[in-house]
Amino acid sequence: MKKLTFKYIFPLIVFIISLVLIVFSLILKLEEKREKEENYQKLLKEELVQKEAKRKAEEKIQQKIYLMGKFNPSEREDFILIPSKYATVENKMYLRKETLDAFLKMQIAADKDKVDLKIASATRNFDYQKSIWNNKWTGMTLVDGKNLAKSIPDDLNRFKKILEYSAVPGTSRHHWGTDIDINDANGEYFKTKQGEKVYEWLVTNAPLFGFCQPYNLKGAERETGYNEEKWHWSYLPLSKTFTEEYKNLIIDSDIKDFEGDKYVPNLNLINDYVLGINPACL
Ligand SMILES: [Zn+2]
Repeated sequence: MKKLTFKYIFPLIVFIISLVLIVFSLILKLEEKREKEENYQKLLKEELVQKEAKRKAEEKIQQKIYLMGKFNPSEREDFILIPSKYATVENKMYLRKETLDAFLKMQIAADKDKVDLKIASATRNFDYQKSIWNNKWTGMTLVDGKNLAKSIPDDLNRFKKILEYSAVPGTSRHHWGTDIDINDANGEYFKTKQGEKVYEWLVTNAPLFGFCQPYNLKGAERETGYNEEKWHWSYLPLSKTFTEEYKNLIIDSDIKDFEGDKYVPNLNLINDYVLGINPACL
């Protein structure tokens, strides 16, 4: 009996133990594989999150470049050359396609009412605005007949004087391809009979084509920003978004690389000027 037990039971035990060991090692291997797969998936997910963050950061940089006008509109597909018959000047001017489409519709309607509308200024990029600004700063361009470099030797006061009618490079709505000056960027023209008629027509009709006057008369409605500009109109369906993006993306330290830029922190440029517009255009 004992011999028999030894003969059968012992191999059986050995067999069972081996089986247990095999199953155990198999489970271990499976567990290892699962862990590896899990780690791989985790890595893949992390990579995707990183890629998405990088894409968003790049998009943000590109949008900041756009909002500050640091591009050449003639090289962008979303901009279009304004046909010369709709312009008061000979130099090539560009607008976002949507803005020009809306202007052309408005121009036809105005024409029917015997009001002549032409574009006196359109997209002005950072470099263009910088040359306007720097020339006023150095006295190369006279302001109210004066060489500001001599008449206002104090830099901060000179900065504020130029700011009355010229945007600081990087803060102009003209960077966006959404804003136009109509007929004449000059207060005197809008005091003439013809100018008054044009302005009256625009106040009544421009909103029907998506245009809004950002620099309306300063007062309770608009306490800060540029003086009244009856000639300057914004195409709201685009400019509203850009105003909002400007508020969210641009900070004072982005506004630089022109004469007097060290005074930017002394002035509340973004709040008072970029956002200091007619509430109807916000
Ligand atoms: Zn303007």
